[in-house]
Amino acid sequence: RGDSKVADRQVDSVCPYCGVGCQLTYHIKDDAILFVEGRDGPSNQNRLCVKGRFGFDYPNHSARLTRPLIRRPGVAKGLDPDFDPAHPLSHFREASWDEALDLAADGLTRLKAAHGPDALAGFGSAKCSNEEAWLFQKLVRTGFGSNHVDHCTRLCHASSVAALMECLGSGAVTASFMQALEADVVLLTGCNPAVNHPVAATYFKQAARNGTKLIILDPRGQALDAYAHRSVRFTPGGDVALYNAMLNVIVTEGLFDQAYIEAHTEGFAALQAHVGDMTPEAMTGLCGVAPETIREIARLFARAERAMIFWGMGISQHVHGTDNARCLISLALACGHIGRPGTGLHPLRGQNNVQGASDAGLIPMVLPDYQPVTDAQVRAAFEELWATPLDDKPGLTVVEIMEAITAGTIKGMYIQGENPAMSDPDLDHARAALGRLEHLVVQDLFVTETAQFADIILPASAWPEKEGSVTNTNRQVQLGRAAVPLPGEAKPDWWIIQEIARRFGLGWDYTHPREVFAEMKRGMASLDHISWARLEREDSVTYPCAADDAPGADVVFSDAFPRAGGRARFAPTRPLPPDEPVDAEYPTVLTTGRQLEHWHTGSMTRRARVLDALEPEAVASLAPAELSRLHLAPGDPVTITTRRGAITLTARVDPSMPAGLVFVPFCYVEAAANILTNPALDPDGKIPEFKYAACRLSRAEPQ
Ligand code: SF4
Repeated sequence: RGDSKVADRQVDSVCPYCGVGCQLTYHIKDDAILFVEGRDGPSNQNRLCVKGRFGFDYPNHSARLTRPLIRRPGVAKGLDPDFDPAHPLSHFREASWDEALDLAADGLTRLKAAHGPDALAGFGSAKCSNEEAWLFQKLVRTGFGSNHVDHCTRLCHASSVAALMECLGSGAVTASFMQALEADVVLLTGCNPAVNHPVAATYFKQAARNGTKLIILDPRGQALDAYAHRSVRFTPGGDVALYNAMLNVIVTEGLFDQAYIEAHTEGFAALQAHVGDMTPEAMTGLCGVAPETIREIARLFARAERAMIFWGMGISQHVHGTDNARCLISLALACGHIGRPGTGLHPLRGQNNVQGASDAGLIPMVLPDYQPVTDAQVRAAFEELWATPLDDKPGLTVVEIMEAITAGTIKGMYIQGENPAMSDPDLDHARAALGRLEHLVVQDLFVTETAQFADIILPASAWPEKEGSVTNTNRQVQLGRAAVPLPGEAKPDWWIIQEIARRFGLGWDYTHPREVFAEMKRGMASLDHISWARLEREDSVTYPCAADDAPGADVVFSDAFPRAGGRARFAPTRPLPPDEPVDAEYPTVLTTGRQLEHWHTGSMTRRARVLDALEPEAVASLAPAELSRLHLAPGDPVTITTRRGAITLTARVDPSMPAGLVFVPFCYVEAAANILTNPALDPDGKIPEFKYAACRLSRAEPQ
């Protein structure tokens, strides 16, 4: 804190990493961030985790892009082991903004003229502001002329959103995570908040200390187990079986809330009949949980006066991810655990603005506020707002776009702040697809792995350099403020998107993000009563909000759901096997995810000095018994092989892992976990099965 003596100014903003959306203050001297402190935001009350507190220096990394780059003639696209992203001039040359933007837009407009609007696609970013997300999807829809626009929600909670939209009529959480403090029972499943939503985890710990019973259901152990009333490990992929068995107990023992079901739902009789044969005894073999344990947790959840369910990507990243979420929704509806303080459904959103980017329409099948592109009335409203005809066909999703590139139908892309060359499943295939693009424009902070496939690279803005709104997992719209100047010739993302749009003849003329926000309010009822001026004044306003001076609704759906008739819907499911079950050749389950210290593909956190020092190398977490079986000691190299490829990384002993399961973080390019992962998709959410692939482990020779 001695540093505070030398800071010459402070700027209040929001953390750039996870969906918790902690408010923070940058302490700055000579336009450089000295340190960061948490402030009293509604979702963090002065708390920050290690990423928010120490991960602030990545914008100053020596590899930061400061001028537009154009690929040198004859230099092959792709990951070249001799290429150094900090010295990109071996493969690219510097250019003026005018030259780079002209070339970027020319390549895209030429492809559109030659092959039609379906030849182009765009990936926007959940790390950018709401206004930038709005502009990006507007450019694709009104400039490119298709709905082929998506972002990382496809890789995290698309299946949760699909189920929530289907059953409740809304894709966002029904209650904030602070409501856990009001709950008698909190069920956490397929999530590891102490790692992935660390400040949210502090609320769960606080709730447990106050007497709330935490039930944790997951294949792996976790730090919150120490606070849990019951922590139950189930077989990877056995989740639908487990939840249906819980529903069976609730139905057969009459633990459901008849009055709530009659007043607020439809389809319960069908669910009752459907789960009749999925008894705990029938499901125990599939989920690996003893029948008496299933009965105990089902009774605990159903008999609670107030209970909440939180879930993460352990639920969503499966070919049955939507079914998983449907089951959790059924559990809450059957017991009347929605619409009151201390009750609700909460998919813990991943990136800092994945909620806002989704709300703003960075989704191929819906316009802003989840309004279907197939609805003529909806389209007409946006056609009037944007004075442009819109395509009525739902666009392709992230993985489908890669398939379309391989098939030769998509030929040009604009990728803003996403890194599919690290984040997509089956990376060899995804990287080959990127290499086939005839024209690729990448807008980012660094020459990411994806940018190494680009024709043009446009240097963009880091979060501490941005002004804009973001929406966190709690539906809190918050204001981020620019704390430090942009380096060199880097530009705000909204400015770059606008310059591309102008070259598509769109004639945009925004001079500040607040003008974009004002336009968003005309197309998004969710932003009613939230103005830019109010955000500047209050820093955070929750949607939906009933009046200009009213606080937003922390808990929603007390009276009715936003579906025809106002009723929520039960959607019965049946257990399905993983797409790629283990077998004699590939006997171990591979699961992937994030580490506490690193974020997503590592493009920011691996360039943050403290975070990279804490977790500098790729590791595979294994149970002690698994290490013994392989005759490995912690620190030995281990090779993981799937049907799609192999990587070698360092073995780490992790007593929270069950035998037969290996966990690998996906942020290390030198051992990219997604070389191994299965691209099979959930049919509804179109999300890949990152949480289950059959693999083989073997001892590797030390290098
Ligand atoms: Fe940032 Fe999330 Fe950590 Fe809060 S919990 S400081 S939002 S990474």
